[in-house]
Amino acid sequence: MVTDKTADGKMETMRHSAAHVMAEAVQSIFPDGRFGIGPAIEDGFYYDFDLPRSLTPDDLPVIEKKMSEIIAADSPFIQKEVTREEAKRLFASQPYKLELIGEIPDEKVSTYQQGAFVDLCRGPHVNSTGVIKAFKLVSIAGAYWRGDEHYPMLQRIYGVAFDTKEALDEHLKRLDEAARRDHRKLGKELDLFSIHEEAGPGLVHWHPKGAVIRRVIEDFWKDEHVKRGYDIVYTPHIAKVGLWQTSGHWDFYHDYLYSPMDVEGQEYIVKPMNCLGHILMYKTKLRSYRELPLRYAELGTVYRYERSGVLHGLARVRGFTQDDAHIFCRFDQLEEEVIRVLELTRFMIDTFGFTNYKVLLSTRPEKYAGALEVWEEATETLHKALARSGITYEIDPGEGVFYGPKIDTKIEDALGRAWQGPTVQVDFNLPQRFNVTYIGEDGQEHVVAMVHRTVLGSMERFLALLIEHYGGAFPVWLAPVQVKVIPVADRHLDYARKLEAELKSGRVRVEVDDRSERMNLKIRQAQLDKIPYMLVVGDKEVADNSVSIRRRSGEQVAAQPFDSFLETISADIASKV
Ligand SMILES: [Zn+2]
Ligand SMILES: [Zn+2]
Repeated sequence: MVTDKTADGKMETMRHSAAHVMAEAVQSIFPDGRFGIGPAIEDGFYYDFDLPRSLTPDDLPVIEKKMSEIIAADSPFIQKEVTREEAKRLFASQPYKLELIGEIPDEKVSTYQQGAFVDLCRGPHVNSTGVIKAFKLVSIAGAYWRGDEHYPMLQRIYGVAFDTKEALDEHLKRLDEAARRDHRKLGKELDLFSIHEEAGPGLVHWHPKGAVIRRVIEDFWKDEHVKRGYDIVYTPHIAKVGLWQTSGHWDFYHDYLYSPMDVEGQEYIVKPMNCLGHILMYKTKLRSYRELPLRYAELGTVYRYERSGVLHGLARVRGFTQDDAHIFCRFDQLEEEVIRVLELTRFMIDTFGFTNYKVLLSTRPEKYAGALEVWEEATETLHKALARSGITYEIDPGEGVFYGPKIDTKIEDALGRAWQGPTVQVDFNLPQRFNVTYIGEDGQEHVVAMVHRTVLGSMERFLALLIEHYGGAFPVWLAPVQVKVIPVADRHLDYARKLEAELKSGRVRVEVDDRSERMNLKIRQAQLDKIPYMLVVGDKEVADNSVSIRRRSGEQVAAQPFDSFLETISADIASKV
């Protein structure tokens, strides 16, 4: 293996070396431990172990201490090539290593040793353990050997490693911030959603507060689509298998489909995508070129099989609602339609408060459906649409789907992490397979150009993104509760109720904290619930029909007449801030 001399390569080599050091430390604590593999990963490394007992977080400092000793000893990493037979003897008590040795085609097998620890490894490694400067063990997880649930579950320790203490501290701070914003944690604390083992993993239950956010987004989404010439439609959740066989999904996406159910002797599946229902609706009439483009939009819930090991809160689920639409148009309308989608995409991204995003144009993969010249023309159309929209983009060569080129947008959140966002895909496959056509100006039948697109992705993943981006402190227009009215004493409750009624009739989402608790405790609770405005009302406020305003940041605003507060918050909501 050639050593990668780039900065990234050096860092990777150092991180992988840290994995060996961790393995040596674990071996010194568990002499009978069995070892899996220990690669470098982004920001750090991991190693998988089969140990006589379960690790707990208390083990990590002990292992770290051992590692520090090994690093201080500055032992060299020594590579040695041995024959396969020697390797088998060397790793006789290591079944996972033996399994790997069995799969190495070469006669010679490479090993690395530092201190008392020998590993099966091609390298490269740093010269000695002292090169490792700043590391920390961050978590323990279960991981199947070979990532396959048919094999034993091993214990994986994750670590991070950087070349300076400052870079490590910076990274640990970011990890803390990410943990604080984790949508699974905030989803529970803010009572937004839940997922139940009894109902099945990857299936989301939206609680009233989460449902409010979703409804606000959906209403906004529908309005903006109608404004832009989309028709909102609804299609069923199940359909006969034959439909998916015609589309090719049955073959191409079989691993993601749920098993069929029997309905009166016919096989049906729960839908993995919404496209086919829209095609069937399009085909209910003979379409003229004058009717095009037709834009069908649906908040369509689909179900796809994902391994339980990869499910992750709202971000990776088994049932989700796509903000889907299909555009049927003539090829000469394609550029204009893509431009319109890009405009809508940008409008949505801006409205939800994202400032950074990256746009990628994915071109023809090796295996593709449709004619080469149609691909080239469509790819050129996407280039032109992007250029005319003034969008800077990168090319992702060969990463288009088999049925057509696409434009993906990756949205960056407040911590600089990229999330899969909007996508626009041209499809040459389905219109052919379903014979989706229109009658042209020439009186002839032509195959339509079909576009699949989402501007948010799915409601589930988008909410995960929003929660983490805002750390649960949603802008006023999205906040499940926008105002909390806090009476200072019970005698102020009537006034609080009066404000509640007026805010409600002004379409503001408001709650009164009518508990007989201390005012400070109520304020603290409203802050924890990340409610944008708290209205504290006591004798003075009752007397002059005013409110004392506190923001969730703790900032206090001078008391003002209730009417002017109502105007302010109504303006916030209307301008979506
Ligand atoms: Zn190695
Ligand atoms: Zn589609």
